[in-house]
Amino acid sequence: MNLDSTFLNNLALVLTGFGAAFFFALWVSLVIWTYRDISNRTRDKLVQILSTVLVGLLYLPGILVYLVLRPPRTLEDEYQRTLEEEALLAAIEDQLLCPGCERRVKDDWMLCPSCQTKLKKNCHNCNALMELPWNICPHCATPELGMRKENMSMDDVMRNLDTGEEEAKEANVTGETSAANDASVTREANGGNDEI
Ligand SMILES: [Zn+2]
Ligand SMILES: [Zn+2]
Repeated sequence: MNLDSTFLNNLALVLTGFGAAFFFALWVSLVIWTYRDISNRTRDKLVQILSTVLVGLLYLPGILVYLVLRPPRTLEDEYQRTLEEEALLAAIEDQLLCPGCERRVKDDWMLCPSCQTKLKKNCHNCNALMELPWNICPHCATPELGMRKENMSMDDVMRNLDTGEEEAKEANVTGETSAANDASVTREANGGNDEI
């Protein structure tokens, strides 16, 4: 009887020791886990400290309160969501709208089929589609009609500066010829447009 009670006492002592050690280890683990978890969810230092202290003080009930109150998304999730939203926005912005009627138009359309607003123009040399404000064809480097004269006069100015009057006169003659060419090409282009 005496021996039995001593054994039971010892057993209880050992079990209590194990239990206490287990609960202490669990407490430490939960505090560390909470700190890591809240660090993944917010950069706010105050919230991080408060959450960790809450779990440290209240232990298991504290974990319950923390799980209820913690921010639903981690910073990683938030980042992914921002990326997705940006991609979505970019996709929406990529859809071209007609400046005249705001309907959707395709990239390779010259004209809005709904309101006949001119959307693109053709290069008179290689026939590639060009944006309306472009003055030079990006495909064949041909200046837009009407821009050539301006360019020639700039060339003339440069030649005047570089080489004297005689060559400048020649350049002027060339310039006039090309201006005449331009005019004829413009007429042709206009004729073409009329047919359309
Ligand atoms: Zn339109
Ligand atoms: Zn071209």
